[in-house]
Amino acid sequence: MTACRLCPRLCGAKRTADEPGLCGVNTQLGFFRIGKVMAHFGEEPFISGQSGSGTLFFSGCALGCRFCQNYPISQATEGVFRGRIYSESEIINSIEALISQGVHNINWVTASHYSLDVIKVIDQLRMRGHRLPMIWNTSAYERVETMRQLDGKIQIYLPDFKFFDDSLSAGLTSVRNYPAIAQRAILEMHRQQPLNVFDRDGHMISGFVLRHLILPGHYRDSLRIIDWIVEHLPADIAISLMSQFTPFAENLSRLSDFPELSRKLTTYEYQKVVDYALQRGLTQVMTQQRTAATATMTPDFT
Ligand code: SF4
Repeated sequence: MTACRLCPRLCGAKRTADEPGLCGVNTQLGFFRIGKVMAHFGEEPFISGQSGSGTLFFSGCALGCRFCQNYPISQATEGVFRGRIYSESEIINSIEALISQGVHNINWVTASHYSLDVIKVIDQLRMRGHRLPMIWNTSAYERVETMRQLDGKIQIYLPDFKFFDDSLSAGLTSVRNYPAIAQRAILEMHRQQPLNVFDRDGHMISGFVLRHLILPGHYRDSLRIIDWIVEHLPADIAISLMSQFTPFAENLSRLSDFPELSRKLTTYEYQKVVDYALQRGLTQVMTQQRTAATATMTPDFT
């Protein structure tokens, strides 16, 4: 890696200890830093199923949301990212261990800064005879050019469309241009997997689910996201409206300009967004119980 341009930040870093990327990655090609590998039961039921989703939570992040629900691995603490380094063969061994546990799919969470290596690992898994669906679980802050390289490798896209407003993006992440970048990436992901297909037990085999985590105090921004979905995607698109925002004490110092993010979402705010999605004619709207807004939805990364 001489100058990385995998993600929209285009920072050109060498990704070494002396010159990490803006995403925090300081591993070379062929190596990954991973916070956790686990069978995960906190995804939508048709993803987690009875046996869990075989999930790899990657360390580092190019977007850097200040309210991140996975903050222990997405952000550095005193310059150090959590997680351990895996080689390509170690990651394949870990995935094969998950497969032998009976997981329903392999779920790559925030892996865009490793996407070239992920493609190689998926190719190796296919050559070894593994047929499980591959899930790209992403903030949607992705380069379309990078997404095109995943075409045919990824069976299920789970992008999270976070905000519509540029100023919200500027205040809550490391970038201002998230909304426009995410919109292009979401359309590319939907182009690749426009149809949702399930096996006879109800597990998703291929498809596209657009997620949106509603933020306390910002449900009007969520309504604009619904408007964009209605204007750019089919009415039967599957959307998952998440109410699980959980304020973490560790994030609060970074959120002093956004005191509303020190609380959970109210039922009123959540219902406003759900009702609006239905009113605008969306037919596949998944909702979440308000009791989901607890730290138990976030894996223990210690
Ligand atoms: S993936 Fe990381 S190193 Fe590469 S361009 Fe993005 S921020 Fe920079």
